[in-house]
Amino acid sequence: MGKVISKELVTREQIQEMCRRVGREISRDYQGKDLILIAVLKGAVVFLSDLMREIDVPLTIDFMSVSSYSGTKSSGVVKIIKDIDQDIAGKDVLIVEDVVDTGLTLRHLKKLLATRGPASIRLCTAFDKPDCRVVDVDVDYIGMSIPNEFVVGYGLDYKQLYRQLPYVAVLADDGKD
Ligand code: 5GP
Repeated sequence: MGKVISKELVTREQIQEMCRRVGREISRDYQGKDLILIAVLKGAVVFLSDLMREIDVPLTIDFMSVSSYSGTKSSGVVKIIKDIDQDIAGKDVLIVEDVVDTGLTLRHLKKLLATRGPASIRLCTAFDKPDCRVVDVDVDYIGMSIPNEFVVGYGLDYKQLYRQLPYVAVLADDGKD
């Protein structure tokens, strides 16, 4: 069975507005701090690129790549495929994610980076699916809450496709064999 874009869930305009708002909140909270944005590859790249241009305090960026859960999902242990390039000791770290679903990825990344001595560590996501949460994780900046549906676009993929869509859409079966 194939997949089709069944409906647009978040428009380009809503995304733009959401980035402006979150950028303002971050700019307000990180005055005089040593901010580093760490984006989780690949999905968060599009959000990072829009978000950083809405933040008007000095910042640096870095990237991490993680695999899905190794072992069982409930262990929440994600494998690091690519680590960040710099030392974060004393820095104010903000992890930037595309979507939070179970919460396992962000919980694990926060725990891991916290062992490296940052001054602070917070979480930011473009989209949140609160109904899917398996573990408690405090997400400090949330662009938008969305329903429990599989979405693509704005960095989010299905089999590596659809990331370039400027909006977020629900992906559904096309009904054909
Ligand atoms: P969590 O660890 O919170 O369950 O999962 C976060 C990761 O799962 C996201 O970074 C993303 O890669 C993937 N994910 C969760 N929900 C969706 C979705 O609706 N669409 C896509 N494309 N990926 C998703």
